Order: sequence, then structure tokens, then C-alpha cells
Amino acid sequence: MLQHLLPALERPREWDVLIGHYLGVDHAGHTYGVASQQMTDKVMQMDEQVAHVLHKLAAAAGPGGPYERGMLLVMGDHGQTMGGDHGGGSAHETDSVLLAVSLQKLHAALQRRQQRREKEEHGSQQQEDVQHQSREQHRSDATAFLQQLHTTPGRRSPAINAGNSSSSRQPGPVPHPARQLVCAQSIPQIDLTPTLAVLLGVAVPYGNVGRLAPELWAVLGSDDGKGVDGLLASYQGALWDNVQQVRLQMMYGKNAT
Ligand SMILES: [Zn+2]
Repeated sequence: MLQHLLPALERPREWDVLIGHYLGVDHAGHTYGVASQQMTDKVMQMDEQVAHVLHKLAAAAGPGGPYERGMLLVMGDHGQTMGGDHGGGSAHETDSVLLAVSLQKLHAALQRRQQRREKEEHGSQQQEDVQHQSREQHRSDATAFLQQLHTTPGRRSPAINAGNSSSSRQPGPVPHPARQLVCAQSIPQIDLTPTLAVLLGVAVPYGNVGRLAPELWAVLGSDDGKGVDGLLASYQGALWDNVQQVRLQMMYGKNAT
């Protein structure tokens, strides 16, 4: 993976979806345990890899760039017990991490940072303030979108509280104090599939009864340049399709062959 992933990112026309499966973290856990120095070293190496990948993708995600409409997801396919085992049903084994990045938004954020630094060099505090406000606006759009869905009674969709996928849902998302746009507390696995399918523009797999995860939509969904209103509009449209798809599955799924 270390050898092949970065070169593959230089050839964006050769693939639509690229899946890189790193084995080292799992292996370090099995061999040395989760709390070992070897695991710490391996996770730090993965951090560096993700940083390299992000920079390479973001650099080519400007207007007209090959990754303009791309997204990066970094996730584990399972967790581990402290002893490095998995396969059971404990939270340590079943819960994993998910990092979702809109490359277009990352590119724009890096551009703004670059511009801010240049302005700082020229001593223009006023321009810096404008850039800072712009960056904060992106964060507040995503946060406001989620707050509308989770905390405003009039905007809450029935689908959000329906079905098995929401039964174990944690309290709503919170804005992350650091660099991340949004920090969701948890996203049920069943919701990942329909959300990614819609974002990728392909059909939701037959039989899936998950719902579009607003936490992912806040980061990856289209706002059509209209901020929180645009995010709400695109989510509403996609959620309606999601409702129809689940409804058809409930009506005909059992009898279909
Ligand atoms: Zn394993």
C-alpha cells in the first residue's frame, strides 16, 4: 500500500473508486496489543500517509481539476479489544473511526489559508478578517444544517427517527473545536451505504433500509453555493428518494425473488 497508493493518485483517469486497504494497524494490534509502542508507531505512520494523500488530492481538487468532485473516506472495517482481538460483538470490536473529507472544500480551505498568509505578509488585517469570516462560515453552515435537522422540531423529518438504524443513535453532532468541520458522535453502519450511494450518484443497493446520514451530508453534500439553505435543499431532495426506496423495499422486498 505504501508503495502503490500515492502513485495511483497521480493517475486519476484510470479509476473511479480507489480502495486502499492497509493491514498494518490490524497486524500491530494482533501481534503486540492495542496499547503497545508498535501500535503507536503504526498509527502515527498512518497519520502521515493520510496527510500525504490529503495534500495530493486537495492540490488537484480546484476548479476543473480531476478531484474537484472527489471525496476521501478513511475508516476502519472493525475495532479491536485491548488485547488486539476482534470478531465479537463488544463496542471495542464493532466500533470504528470514520474521516470524511470533501476535496473541493478542503482545496478551498487551503487556498483561503494560503491567501491569508499572503495577506498577513502584506500586513492587511482587514483582508485577514474577511478570510477568517469566510472559513468560519463554512463551518457554521454544516453545523447549522445539522442543528436544523436535530434540534428544530418543525424541520425534523419523520425518517430521521424511524427504523432500526436510529435506535442506538447517540446525542446529536457537535461542532469540533479544532480544525475539523463537524464531529459526529456516531453513524450507524446501515446508513453509510445509502449515503455513499447517493453521493456517488449510483443506486442504493437492493435491500438496504438505511437512511441518509445528515452528518455525512453536512460535510460531503452539495450546497449549490447557497450555504445551509442549499445543504438543506439537496438533503431534502435526496431524503425523499431515500424514503421512496425504503418504502418500496418494505412493500415488496419480502416477496421479491
Ligand atoms: Zn484482524
